[in-house]
Formats: sequence, structure tokens, C-alpha cells
Amino acid sequence: MAPAQNPISSKQVAVIGAGASGLIAARELHREGHTVVVFEREKQVGGLWIYSPKAESDPLSLDPNRLIVHSSVYESLRTNLPRECMGFRDYPFVPREDDLSRDSRRYPSHREVLAYLQDFAREFKIEEMVRFETEVVRVEPVDGKWKVRSKTSGKLSNDEIFDAVVVCSGHYTEPYVATIPGINSWPGMQVHSHNYRVPGRFENEVVVVIGNFASGADIRPLLDVAKVAKEVHIASRGSEANTCEKLSVPTNNLWIHSESKYLDWVAEESGCLLVEPWRVQQVERGYKRLVSNPENYRDEWDDNDLIEEAYEDFSRKRLISSRPSYFPESGR
Ligand SMILES: Cc1cc2nc3c(=O)[nH]c(=O)nc-3n(C[C@H](O)[C@H](O)[C@H](O)COP(=O)(O)OP(=O)(O)OC[C@H]3O[C@@H](n4cnc5c(N)ncnc54)[C@H](O)[C@@H]3O)c2cc1C
Repeated sequence: MAPAQNPISSKQVAVIGAGASGLIAARELHREGHTVVVFEREKQVGGLWIYSPKAESDPLSLDPNRLIVHSSVYESLRTNLPRECMGFRDYPFVPREDDLSRDSRRYPSHREVLAYLQDFAREFKIEEMVRFETEVVRVEPVDGKWKVRSKTSGKLSNDEIFDAVVVCSGHYTEPYVATIPGINSWPGMQVHSHNYRVPGRFENEVVVVIGNFASGADIRPLLDVAKVAKEVHIASRGSEANTCEKLSVPTNNLWIHSESKYLDWVAEESGCLLVEPWRVQQVERGYKRLVSNPENYRDEWDDNDLIEEAYEDFSRKRLISSRPSYFPESGR
């Protein structure tokens, strides 16, 4: 797509990372007429959605010399949000019924998210702006501009000067490891969820899951582990002290707060359109379903009205040519 005509003077911009944030940043900057270089240390676009069966050499990711693996995605991961509200505003994340290899579920697997991001990059020719296998190792301000040092395939490249740098390097690769007094005397293995891929290593083990939010409370890996482990205990700070209840689902400690006010404030400040009401409500009702039905919230839903609204919006804006056939039958 040709860059838009606009009064903003063209700048040289470096974008670090070609995950979801880097891709959309690169497209918008290019549309404004800037010259964009995207630095990406992997061989393809997609960021954390590029699944790797490899985990880091230190399962807690504390060793500064460990082998770093960017993705935190585990093998059986499906999204925790409906696909309609995950897509970019003008490039809906709709099922690709023309391609049978694709996952058309409303909460698809991680592979489908990667395929969507790669479709987006292809559609807007973003890969042409990306320097793959090139890692930014230093950024520093110099005379009102930015000096960017990068390494391609392990070899240092020249420093380059940019007018602006957009950092889209992701924030899950450096895991937060809680300080727990006495944990070092724990005789068993310790693994951060960033390094969880498959349940095999927990066979016949007694497992304690520490934390009960997006990762800890995700029923999919819990059930995967519970199938092979001897026992699984979820340690939740939100539960009443000294209780030990055999739960079918861990749902007594999750509260829902609306993000939309903050997002609307950001949109207003930057002169962008506000978040569509159907998108806000899909997130809110999705989280309510997660709390009330963690085992099946991805396959059973009661918000077909919101799906209808989303698809009407996509049609009105001419973002899709036809509606997918799957959704009216799937919700209950
Ligand atoms: C386990 C898990 C599940 C999730 N599930 C969902 C979900 O279901 N729905 C949802 O909407 N969101 C989900 N998220 C949130 C997710 O973080 C966002 O959806 C989004 O993909 C983040 O994109 P990003 O571009 O910010 O970062 P990333 O996808 O992490 O991309 C960062 C990119 O920067 C590159 N990079 C980093 N440092 C450098 C460097 N120095 N030089 C060059 N390149 C560099 C990396 O290689 C990577 O490609 C999930 C997150 C996690 C961890």
C-alpha cells in the first residue's frame, strides 16, 4: 500500500521487534510516510506466537548466561480471548474458510494466531521492512537522534542513526519470579510458566502451581498436568487462609475490572478512534465465562449477539466479504 499523503515530515524510524506490536507500528509509520526498519532477531514475524518446543536451559530463567527462548507459549495453548476482539481494527481475525489447514474455532490455537499475524505482514508487505536474525544490542541518544547498534547472525553491524525508535520487544520473555521465603529448600524441580511446554516431566509428581491468574488459572495446562501428575495443588493468595478444598475449578478469587476506560483515555490522547463497544463487552463477558466455566469457556458461550455486532461492524466497514458459517451454531 502506498504511504498516505500527510503533512508530517518523513523520519527514519527503527522498530525493535516484529511481533503483533512491531507489525502494527511498522504499518502505521509506513502509512504516515516514514522510512521504517524493523529489527527482528528471529527468522520470521510473529513474536511470542512462534511456538518452540525448546524451553530455556534454566527452567526459572534466573541464570544470566542461560539460553533464552523468546516464546512463553505451551503446546496445547488456545487463546484466552475470542478471536474477533484480538484482531487489528481494520484487519479482522476471522476464520479462513478457504484454507482447511486453518483453525476456525472462536478461541483458536497459537498456530492460528501466528498464521493471522503472518497474513497481516504479507498483506501490508511488512516483511520487506524487516531485517531478520538481527538483534538490537544497544540504543543511545546522540544529538537529538538515536544510535542503534545491532548484531546480524552473531556479527556486530555498523551503528546506525534514526530519528526515532519504537520498542516492541515484548515483555514476557524475562519472567517475574516471586520471592518466596524457604523456596530454595524445596527438593523438587521448579519451573516458571514461561518454560512450560508439555506435561510429560510432571508424570507421577506432586505439583504445586503458585499463582492463580492468566497463567496459573488457565485450565488447559492444569488439566494437561493433572492427567499425568499424582496430585496438583493450586496455591492462591486470594483464597482464605488455611483452607484446603478439593476444587473442580479454581474460581473463587478472580475479579473483573474494565480496561476500556484506560484504553479510551489513550485513544483520546493520541487522537485515535475509541475501542468499539462490542469489543469491550466481548472481553468482559469472556472473562465472566472464564470465571464461571473455566473448563469450557472457549467452546461454550452466550454472546452471539456480540459476535453479530462484530461481524456487522466488519461488513459495514467492508473489511470482510462474507460472514463465516461457524459461529451461530457453536455458542450455547
Ligand atoms: C502465554 C501467553 C498467552 C497469551 N495469550 C493471549 C491471548 O490469548 N490473546 C491476546 O490478545 N493476548 C495474549 N497474550 C498477550 C501477548 O503478549 C500479545 O497478544 C502480543 O502477542 C504481544 O506482542 P508484542 O509484539 O508486544 O511482543 P512479542 O510477541 O513478544 O514480540 C516481540 C518481538 O521482539 C523481538 N525482539 C525482542 N528483543 C529484540 C531485540 N533486542 N532485537 C530484535 N528483536 C527483538 C522478539 O524476537 C519478538 O519477535 C498472551 C501472552 C502470553 C505470554
